[in-house]
Amino acid sequence: MSGSTTYEGQLCCAICGDAILPPTPEPSASLRWQTEAVLLSDPDQEFEQLERHYRGGKKRGAPRLDPHVGQEIQKDRAHVIEGDRLRILPAEEENEEGEEENPGRERECVRANNSYIYEENDQWAVTPYYIATHGACLEVAEDTMRRSPHDIIVRDLRTLWKALRMRFEVDDSYYMSTVTGAVSRPQRVQLPHGYYMPFQPSRLASGDPLVEHSATDSLVGDHERWEASYPLFVPKLTSAILENLRSLPPATAAIPESLAFQKRFLALPPELRDHVCSFLVSRNGMRSACNGLLPQWVWRDVLLTGKCLPFLPEIDASVVQGFCTLWEEEEEEGRGRELNWEFLVRRLSQEDWSIWDAESSSLKVPNGLRNRRRVWQLVEEMYVGDLVPVQRTTQGTYCVAVPRYWGRAGELVYPVMRIKVGSKDKQQLLGGSLGSHLPAA
Ligand SMILES: [Zn+2]
Repeated sequence: MSGSTTYEGQLCCAICGDAILPPTPEPSASLRWQTEAVLLSDPDQEFEQLERHYRGGKKRGAPRLDPHVGQEIQKDRAHVIEGDRLRILPAEEENEEGEEENPGRERECVRANNSYIYEENDQWAVTPYYIATHGACLEVAEDTMRRSPHDIIVRDLRTLWKALRMRFEVDDSYYMSTVTGAVSRPQRVQLPHGYYMPFQPSRLASGDPLVEHSATDSLVGDHERWEASYPLFVPKLTSAILENLRSLPPATAAIPESLAFQKRFLALPPELRDHVCSFLVSRNGMRSACNGLLPQWVWRDVLLTGKCLPFLPEIDASVVQGFCTLWEEEEEEGRGRELNWEFLVRRLSQEDWSIWDAESSSLKVPNGLRNRRRVWQLVEEMYVGDLVPVQRTTQGTYCVAVPRYWGRAGELVYPVMRIKVGSKDKQQLLGGSLGSHLPAA
């Protein structure tokens, strides 16, 4: 079982919640992706436009502002120098010969999750608010926004930006409201679901983290931290998924009613069969009980096309074919058992991806895939204003209040409101499905 992780002094990815590591001369292959950061920033400074106009939400009588926003959210590759300081890398750092392009260009150093006013040529200016993510997590998030079949809210980069920016606004407000003023940066926004990592506990949410190992470790004991595994490319993914077929009970013979349905289903044109299969998509996973209404090869195709399991699009058809051929040879002795593709797809759809104790899961899923699914879930549940101020401690009085400029989908809200601890109008905390993922206290 994994232990808990401390993120003290660590810059963390705003999407997945795990550490963004400084590059080392010889990074291990498994950790390298965590050193490759991308900074998100808004060239139009929409938040700052709104903040100035409404003075942080306090000037409720101000006329409605429709900020000028025409540019995309900017993405800059960067490396951590130390703490929350990063160096922005030129867009094309090296050409094919390994020579650095624009060698004279000075690499810019910035601070993440922060902005401040500075003077330049007798003018006051505000630094861009850079939000730091892992480049890989941002790729997964963009894939989720593009391909999720569910009714999700965050579908574009600007909405993702707004959701993350408002989380930091809540978090920043805690620091600004403390009397001591000891601002501990870089901060990691504490979320009630703890980013669906092992042992996430209410203790972390209350600012009392368990200290067992550092976020720079990829191993805990003999186990790789699955929540720190590279989510984009998963080696031998198809064969790892197929191995589960051996441990699942083979399909039982279909009953006459199921066979009659199968006959009618197979008589449909392919377009209609695809349409029927599209209804298998379920946000909370399919039911575990197999009903045999669809032939097993249809379930195999459901797995291959990735339509019902969109976070798993790269199943290799040739590996599946080889596996099936081997199975048929082994089954030659006349037992005639069928592989239970239906059960496999149902199990994959309902696997508890936020599981605290992944090693004990009966379904063996590669760590990178489990981590990818975690990020999918985080993005699918995200909305603007999904973090509201809560009472973090019983000691002292917090006067945390954050302006609400946008609604859940990022639409402008007028008049602007200030959300305080205990506000009756505060929005629902991090989605309706959260409760089912929280571990028992
Ligand atoms: Zn990440």
